[in-house]
Amino acid sequence: MADATSESPDVAGLIAIDLPCRGCGYNLRGLLPTGRCPECGVPISASCHDDLLCYGPPTWLATLQRGAWLIVWGTVGMVAGLIVFDLVSPLLMAVVKLAGGAVALYGVWLITQPDPSGIGDDQYVNDRRIVRFCVLVGLVAYTLEVVWESGVKPVPLDIAKGLCHLVNAVGDFAMLSYFAKLAGRIPAVSLSLRARRLRWPVAVARGIAVAGARTLVQLGPPAAGGGAATTVTVALTAIVGAAVLAHLGLSVLVLILVYRLGKALRVPLELARHIWPTTSIGTPLSPGNHLAGPRGH
Ligand SMILES: [Zn+2]
Repeated sequence: MADATSESPDVAGLIAIDLPCRGCGYNLRGLLPTGRCPECGVPISASCHDDLLCYGPPTWLATLQRGAWLIVWGTVGMVAGLIVFDLVSPLLMAVVKLAGGAVALYGVWLITQPDPSGIGDDQYVNDRRIVRFCVLVGLVAYTLEVVWESGVKPVPLDIAKGLCHLVNAVGDFAMLSYFAKLAGRIPAVSLSLRARRLRWPVAVARGIAVAGARTLVQLGPPAAGGGAATTVTVALTAIVGAAVLAHLGLSVLVLILVYRLGKALRVPLELARHIWPTTSIGTPLSPGNHLAGPRGH
């Protein structure tokens, strides 16, 4: 978005373009740039800049950062739990996966919260919505896993688990696209580039691992006598194994990326705390002359 200050005031010094308030999305057109938003009280000057995160509401930025930490700690907790409970019981492992996964998914939900003003959202609104949909799918997947390990194992449940994992391959791609664009608003160029580069490898590795594993289940164990079918099964097993390993390695890289994103968000958060007043931040007083927000998910 262009810097609005240079072109927005008219001859009387009033804002002459449609300019959404960073706090609530109220249209500031016709007001003095030195004043405050009549809806939420945020200084109008905070809205007269581009869509860099440091001009966004600190409460919102803090939520994004909290989301990054929850993703990291939820995932670390889940992996630690899986290692500890691996030998104890598959059911307990599935429960740990659900608990850690729920924390991480709540983190994803927080980090994809929209800016109250709606500014900058147009560049990644679709990614954000796909990711949030996949959060719900992910929760269903973890719950199905618990049901499965508790002994209820009908075929449709197995198919549903597989479908959830495939949907989440799309979710991985959308999440990394979103991270790339969010990092671009910090701006953290190297982080943004890294997220962009990881998108395809992560989604493809997960897709091959899930689809390949399902196909192997359908094919059944390799026949003792060998033959073409056995060669296919052996080759597919090798491909799935490689895809699982690749996805594991890439997931570590994604986790490091989220950790670095959480750290990088501290800079715009600190700046925003200086730019914004400490009260009624980002909370619209009433619905009215809004341009772009506030938005739901
Ligand atoms: Zn406002």
